Amino acid sequence: MVQLMKITASALLLTFLLSASPTDAQEQGQATLRVPLNFGSATTVHLGSGVYTFTRQGARNIFIVTDDGVIATDPISPETAEVYMAEIRKVTDKPVKYLVYSHQHWDHVRGGQIFKDAGASVVSHQACIQYFHRDPNPEVVNPDITFEGPRYDVTLGGKTLELHHFGRNHGDCLVVMRIPEINAIFLVDLVTPYGVSGGSGLINDFYPTDWIRSLKQIEAMDFDYMIGGHGPPKAPPWAITERREYLEALMAAVKAELDKGTPAAETGAAINLPKFQHLRNYKRLMPLNAERFRTFYILGW
Ligand SMILES: [Zn+2]
Repeated sequence: MVQLMKITASALLLTFLLSASPTDAQEQGQATLRVPLNFGSATTVHLGSGVYTFTRQGARNIFIVTDDGVIATDPISPETAEVYMAEIRKVTDKPVKYLVYSHQHWDHVRGGQIFKDAGASVVSHQACIQYFHRDPNPEVVNPDITFEGPRYDVTLGGKTLELHHFGRNHGDCLVVMRIPEINAIFLVDLVTPYGVSGGSGLINDFYPTDWIRSLKQIEAMDFDYMIGGHGPPKAPPWAITERREYLEALMAAVKAELDKGTPAAETGAAINLPKFQHLRNYKRLMPLNAERFRTFYILGW
């Protein structure tokens, strides 16, 4: 019953978010700021056609139930993977056949062992392997299946999970997962809807120009909404555009301050981007984002 109530509350929130245009969001900035990040108990939401999204402690993944088994994604951590598996078991007793990694970062891909033990094949882009070998983490299971190039489809029981690779952006092995069954994408870390980059704000392992290029490529994909690796279960496509435009505006502002000779310590405070002030964590993290871009303009990295 509690679970059902949570799902209903999420569904109401989704209806609001999906019906809001960018202008609405700006006018209703306070409402947008209240989008809850789920750092507490686990929540599973059915998105339709056997596609679910699960979140726990701020990280989110998806799973797809088919007649022949389940396609799971990012296990997140050993503790969360156990809860995740239990949530899958509430929905189906079919075996989990695949566990697909979005990218190599430990905050998304630790804890795959229980899926491996249950017979799942672990899938990632080939470019992730170098990191798993360079800095082995005993909680990260090495992939059984890797692919190279821009596209790989995981198919099971008549359903498909498309894996799209756009090269370097956040690390260089991140895949954007498109789910044709619901015409949505699962997009990890490149965009956290309605907010400035989370975590430390230092945008670790992001390549600014490749990030913007990739976002443009993602904006050109066919999808009705995005499911973020952090944040709400659904967000409209304009959340991606908003993130790209914020990055472009901030990079231009940082470059202008650099050209003026503004000292590093004063750069963040000198920048003001009224169009993006409604974004969650803008005040706290924008100056840190600016510092990352300042480094980019000095080093070319
Ligand atoms: Zn990451």
